[in-house]
Amino acid sequence: MSTEEMRKLNADEPKEEMQNGKYREIYTEEEKKVYQRRDKLDSLYYLRSMMQSLEGVNIIIENRMKFYEEYHLDLQEYVLWGRYLLTYRGTIQEIDQEYLLGKKVDITTLADFMKSVSSLRTEPLVAFPPRGCFCAECHGLITFEDVKEGNFDFKINKFVHKTHKKQN
Ligand SMILES: [Zn+2]
Repeated sequence: MSTEEMRKLNADEPKEEMQNGKYREIYTEEEKKVYQRRDKLDSLYYLRSMMQSLEGVNIIIENRMKFYEEYHLDLQEYVLWGRYLLTYRGTIQEIDQEYLLGKKVDITTLADFMKSVSSLRTEPLVAFPPRGCFCAECHGLITFEDVKEGNFDFKINKFVHKTHKKQN
């Protein structure tokens, strides 16, 4: 085995050392920063403040996706408006499930959400409309309200309303 291989093997060892008879975890400064970033992405305060606008929701998704792609560390799973699941991998899925108990809240952990439903079916969401996106069929704006209500679809690379609202 080459020294290079040896070094690699050692690098994969859990970073723990004995101190006063107890194991303690050692984090490098770089690792600390990564965990701090994850804590921020998982923080209810951060998510609540960002989800006040469509732009903010898109930023949440983008940041979570990038984080998971880069570090492969699981994120906390949340449900937005009882409709969208932010997965541990940073992706977003649409929930095909009505509430059976309790009332709709803007944001809840997946674990809490599961207490109010009998089962959960989700479908991957290919894309989320950006702010200022127009429906390819009626040319009306796909609003933040439309998104919260799930009133949009992605057909042949274009966003459309499920139910068009525009009055002509
Ligand atoms: Zn439309």
